[in-house]
Amino acid sequence: MNRLAALSAPSVLGQSHGDGDGDGEFAGTYAEARDRFRRRAAEVGARLASHPHPADPDLACDVATLGDPAAPTKIVISSGVHGVEGFAGSAVQAAWLKHARSATLPAGLNVVLVHAINPWAFAHATRTDERNVDVNRNLIDHAQKPDPNSDYSALVHLFHCRTWTADENLVAYRALQALQQSADGARSAAAMAAGQSSHPDGLYYQGDAPSWSSEVLNTVLIEVLPAAQTLVWIDLHTGVGDFGEIVSIDFSPPAASGGVGSRPWLSAVPITAADSAFGIGGVPPYRGVVARHVGQRAADIGVKAACFVVEFGTVDDFTMFRADRLDRWLRYEGRLDPRHDALRREYRDAYVPPSPTWREFVVRQGVALLAGAIFEAGDAYVTGSEQSGCVE
Ligand SMILES: [Zn+2]
Repeated sequence: MNRLAALSAPSVLGQSHGDGDGDGEFAGTYAEARDRFRRRAAEVGARLASHPHPADPDLACDVATLGDPAAPTKIVISSGVHGVEGFAGSAVQAAWLKHARSATLPAGLNVVLVHAINPWAFAHATRTDERNVDVNRNLIDHAQKPDPNSDYSALVHLFHCRTWTADENLVAYRALQALQQSADGARSAAAMAAGQSSHPDGLYYQGDAPSWSSEVLNTVLIEVLPAAQTLVWIDLHTGVGDFGEIVSIDFSPPAASGGVGSRPWLSAVPITAADSAFGIGGVPPYRGVVARHVGQRAADIGVKAACFVVEFGTVDDFTMFRADRLDRWLRYEGRLDPRHDALRREYRDAYVPPSPTWREFVVRQGVALLAGAIFEAGDAYVTGSEQSGCVE
């Protein structure tokens, strides 16, 4: 069987998910997600490594490698950088593993699945780590004086609240909407999400030191990069984009650094480029992003790298605004509020909608995305492209 035939097989591309089992791939808890990931990785003969979290021995970042660890072309799929969003990324990883038994990887290519980079936040259905560090803003040089981000400070009154009421949420949202009517206001509203160092209890806090998750990421890079010539890294997220929309944000290093970001890596699924998805405010000038860090580390040693965030859109703008405000409030002022657990579930539903239609879509498209990346990378860079045999 040639590579195209092998990778187009329904079991690999996920076309067999039309029976609705995509919804069932979503775990109810972090523990369930972890068990399923490890079990399915073991069933396909993947090499498994675990990085236990120091705060809780039941939490870990697990890494499964399928295929030859020394293969020069690597496809890495990571989940759970923003904890709660890991329910979706984990479902995609687990679904792909379920069907990987019948998959055939091109010679010279392996697949690395990084499950729950931020397991503490995954287990607590929140975004940031145990110190409120946004891991996807933390990959910065902490020896440098941090940029406090004046746009965040200017808008902090809209996102930080002492009490939790529907009226306050609407007033704050309408104030934000009014601000976004002007180009400068829209730019400021986008820039506030870039990362900030002035409010350790705020959103997008970049931290004052590498997070545990960032250290695990660097450990994974030390294992993956030395044998690599080409790297495709897709970091799965939710929350950006309309309901059911898939948005890619390209953090590949510049071509001059050996980047291969212009490759149509994501052509397997209908996808919206970030420029059009973020509206007039534009893509926030993100700092400390995992995917950019990966690309830079790869480029530093001459590895060609394509590094993307892929977002699965969830809810409308107001519900997302309310959710981000809510997550912060629940971590601080609302810790002992009698509505805490119910509101935490509402937060989770904003990033991981319970809709079976949405969940089936995410699993089907996520598996297709991974299969497409394998095909693209194998087609572009693997020489002597005979099949290497089953991954089992
Ligand atoms: Zn995210």
